[in-house]
Amino acid sequence: MDKLTLLNNLMDRNSTISDISHGKEVFWENPEKLPVSEAPFPISDSEITAAEERFTRFAPFIERVFPETESTHGIIESELVPIPNMQKVLCAKGKLYLKMDSHLAVAGSVKARGGFYEVLKHAEDLALANNKISLTDNYEKFDTDEMRRFFSQYTVQVGSTGNLGMSIGIMSAALGFRAIVHMSSDAKAWKKNLLRQRGVKVIEYTEDYSKAVEEGRRRSALDPKSYFVDDEKSVDLFLGYAVAARRLKTTLREKGITVDRKYPLVVYIPAGVGGAPGGITYGLTRIFGDSVKCYFAEPVNCPSVLLGIATGMFEKANVRDFGLSGKTHADGLACASPSSLVTRLMLPIVSGVFTVSDAKLYDYLRLLYSTEGIEIEPSSCAAFIGVEKNTVPENATQIVWATGGSMIPEKIKKEYLETYL
Ligand SMILES: *Cc1c(COP(=O)(O)O)cnc(C)c1O
Repeated sequence: MDKLTLLNNLMDRNSTISDISHGKEVFWENPEKLPVSEAPFPISDSEITAAEERFTRFAPFIERVFPETESTHGIIESELVPIPNMQKVLCAKGKLYLKMDSHLAVAGSVKARGGFYEVLKHAEDLALANNKISLTDNYEKFDTDEMRRFFSQYTVQVGSTGNLGMSIGIMSAALGFRAIVHMSSDAKAWKKNLLRQRGVKVIEYTEDYSKAVEEGRRRSALDPKSYFVDDEKSVDLFLGYAVAARRLKTTLREKGITVDRKYPLVVYIPAGVGGAPGGITYGLTRIFGDSVKCYFAEPVNCPSVLLGIATGMFEKANVRDFGLSGKTHADGLACASPSSLVTRLMLPIVSGVFTVSDAKLYDYLRLLYSTEGIEIEPSSCAAFIGVEKNTVPENATQIVWATGGSMIPEKIKKEYLETYL
């Protein structure tokens, strides 16, 4: 059967897929989700622990080069805050919290988790292989001219819609790597400018994210001293995101928030290629088992993770094959095809996916600002659709994962508040 016939059959048989292809908002509940006791978890807990320990080893370096992390001694983590006023307006049950990865230090987005992690791991691998460091050293040593001279012979490259490029570019430059970021047409000008100011080479494409990734991958492969951060299949990015779950467990305990069968945790996370929400969901599911339900949120014009999982086409799903443009104001989520790794890992784990219209992103953005005084970026607002549409028990703790926003220039924040679609 050719691809077109296959897609037409899918749309006929499945009314959700048909609604998606007509640009409607949908809620897709995952029929393949398994009880945790039956689901496969091919990435082990010890790998997530190792990732957590690697972040800890690098904390003294991060504290030195990014003074804004002094108060947390180089650990980059976000707050979990109740948003009772917004909860009232949304008529949400249980207790509603905002996980403010939008305000993570240094990168201002969730990419401070996966992106930083992969660059740090690559730096450590190179330094260990060349006897520049040992695992028991104080990693302040990375903040020396000698180390930067060593890393300056290597290049790190990445394809990005904006935020991933920012986190990879910022951390690579801080370590002394040459950094090249391949930016898709969706990427905002201020993100490109900020990177250029830090000495990162930015290559712009008139095409979408998939093209930026493809070109970055191709060019990097031509240079033996170049490393490509591959958002469409990277396990390291995934592990960096998964660490968030361990830390959230500590936060919940500190705040006296119980999570068990009787008091379930319900989490909503915006998805682009799926790496960030996938890693967080994987980590949370390892910790809280069947007591946590994780939902993704995607723009109506670019629900690539939903299509990849729901059709079983995984990375071969492209929103354009379903009649969608892939164009969205949620620039951080503008990925026409999803991650091969994450769609496969999420198939038995994710509880469902919501799609949201671009117009509502700005309504949520304004509402969060007017009720709680918090400003985040449009992509980051996608997750509120879940709170509005989902049905949860009275005892639930609901978390909206805010994924980006604190680095937006004031002028653009103002424009966002005044955007009506
Ligand atoms: C990257 C990003 C996401 C989603 O992450 P993926 O790994 O692409 O799924 C969500 N929100 C914002 C603001 C982002 O930058």
